[in-house]
Amino acid sequence: MAGKFEHPRGTFDVLPEDAAKRERLLQEAREIFGLAGYGLVATPIYEETALFERGVGKSTDIVRKEMFTFEDKGGRSLTLRPEGTAPICRAYVEHGMHRWAQPVKLCYAGPFFRHERPQAGRYRQFHQIGAEAIGSDSPLADVEVITLINDLIEELGVPGVELRLGSLGSLDARATYLEELKSHLRAREDELSEDVRARIEINPLRAFDADHEGTQEVMSEAPHLLDFLSEEDAEHFEQVKSYLSAASVEYTIDPTLVRGLDYYTRTIFSFVCDRLEAQAEIGGGGRYDGLIEQLGGPPTPAVGWAAGIERILLALGEEVTSNGMDLFVVVADPDLTTKAVALVSELRHHGLAVEMDLAGRSMKGQFKQADRAGAAHTLILEPGGSASLRDMQTGDQQTVDPKDVVGLIRS
Ligand code: AMP
Repeated sequence: MAGKFEHPRGTFDVLPEDAAKRERLLQEAREIFGLAGYGLVATPIYEETALFERGVGKSTDIVRKEMFTFEDKGGRSLTLRPEGTAPICRAYVEHGMHRWAQPVKLCYAGPFFRHERPQAGRYRQFHQIGAEAIGSDSPLADVEVITLINDLIEELGVPGVELRLGSLGSLDARATYLEELKSHLRAREDELSEDVRARIEINPLRAFDADHEGTQEVMSEAPHLLDFLSEEDAEHFEQVKSYLSAASVEYTIDPTLVRGLDYYTRTIFSFVCDRLEAQAEIGGGGRYDGLIEQLGGPPTPAVGWAAGIERILLALGEEVTSNGMDLFVVVADPDLTTKAVALVSELRHHGLAVEMDLAGRSMKGQFKQADRAGAAHTLILEPGGSASLRDMQTGDQQTVDPKDVVGLIRS
């Protein structure tokens, strides 16, 4: 016998019950985005590799070791998108969106790819939804995008979520701070993990994220970026906090917050769920005022976030959703099958969710099948042209004319 195939490591199949939960999440997100005027964009699954090298940053883990990069037949280097912001900024520049009314408010959903070590909540192909407000440096934009993800989490009822908020300041303040941080790290170099030590020069901020005990000890005494903010950055941050409170969004300030992408400036935020273990972040983002210019566009401030669909579903846990059939047509005699086929087709045209047995089951078997399908009613076709409609919840049964079924179910 030939060998069987399995999905590749770090990927998964979405089966119907899971798909229904995803659909509910996406519907909720679409509604929230729509109510705030965010328009959907879809960019390709792959882009030029250089877009991510320049956009996400060469010193990040994503670019250093997690990209699925390949050459096409013309020898161009392409990469399966590891994140959504750089592609959206590429599209903003390419389509001259700076000429549109600002800010341009965009949202997206789709698959992303990172060659990470697979574990619960961390995959190599995963799905994100996200929103970006491009073209405004106002703290109002920060707060609007944060309320979108906050609303989504609330509407879905994700339990145990905390919003952590920080600010990275703008690039100048950060440069001064980074020198301070590097000298702090160099002074205690022998206490650091090998990985952090190797990156003191290229990415010292990541040391805040380290699991390594010695490193954590060193970092607990490290200087904080929040103490280095310029007056303008500090004022911006104060306004973000005050508008968040006005929008009734609760947050905690986290002076050690950092993110794994190089492009952030000023506001950064992270939504963390205490029901998840190692991979506790369900979504996060921040302001990226320099990115569009770095990608060849005009200087354009922007802010946005991405949330992991799988993480949200994990945090929501096992909530069973029925697929909600309106009706299951049962035939009391196999001779009635043709009539059932015609009726099912007609009822579906009327917009009812209707199923019938496709496997030659007995009457008892058909009722079982109706139960499994979560049908609210069954319609039993009987010899001689009569039919009965049964309410599956109460068990009440009445004789009906199949013509009247649509109206009866709707009422
Ligand atoms: P990031 O683009 O790194 O800021 O991540 C945004 C969100 O995407 C995270 O908060 C996670 O919910 C989700 N995410 C990132 N990487 C993965 C992954 N490898 N597997 C599943 N979800 C992920």
